[in-house]
Amino acid sequence: MSAGCNGQDVAAAIRLAAAAVAAERGELTRLDREIGDGDHGENMHRGFQAVVARLDPDAGLTPGAVLKLVATTLISTVGGASGPLYGTAFLRAATSAGDVATLDTGAVHAALAAACGGVQARGHAEPGDKTMVDALVPAVAAAHGGSVAELLGAAAAAAQDGVVATVPLVARKGRASYLGPRSAGTADPGATSTAVILRAFAAAAAG
Ligand code: ADP
Ligand code: MG
Repeated sequence: MSAGCNGQDVAAAIRLAAAAVAAERGELTRLDREIGDGDHGENMHRGFQAVVARLDPDAGLTPGAVLKLVATTLISTVGGASGPLYGTAFLRAATSAGDVATLDTGAVHAALAAACGGVQARGHAEPGDKTMVDALVPAVAAAHGGSVAELLGAAAAAAQDGVVATVPLVARKGRASYLGPRSAGTADPGATSTAVILRAFAAAAAG
């Protein structure tokens, strides 16, 4: 995919992300049971299954149109804190992508940075608050490479490091913050789902 990714490539990456969320939903729910209300895996799975159902492989959508479909579907189906946040992330990525037919590495980086900025603008979380921002901010910082696959591989690895770094943190946003110091010792569910999704995007880009 060194020439960049078109709408079909983006749709394929979204389908792989949906499969990864399906495979990891038990783990996402287990984490959210520890420090939340135990619905994160099912929330994300419901949302991504709805996305897959609406993604018509023959529709000839641009990358931006695919990302916008993902955004509106997640907003209306995921619920919880994470639904509007992931919806905002994909909506900002869609706006960043615009109506071009192919995203090159620069455009993919810009879309990822826009997604992260959208989550921060909407949720007001900073790095260290034990949220998905702790996966997204390092992912954007590491997202460099000669190809989209290299860029997304670096972003996914940094997101996973960010997940590990959330384990000792005390949550300052969302439901987990109600637990105070008892939120330490468990990885953040939303940071974990972010890493799952980015890993799927990287795998899709690598072919
Ligand atoms: P809920 O907490 O409403 O049950 P989910 O369980 O689906 O929603 O999602 C929880 C995740 O949402 C958390 O693990 C965290 O990563 C993320 N989150 C919650 N609040 C914020 C926020 N203000 N900014 C960024 N992420 C947040
Ligand atoms: Mg929850």
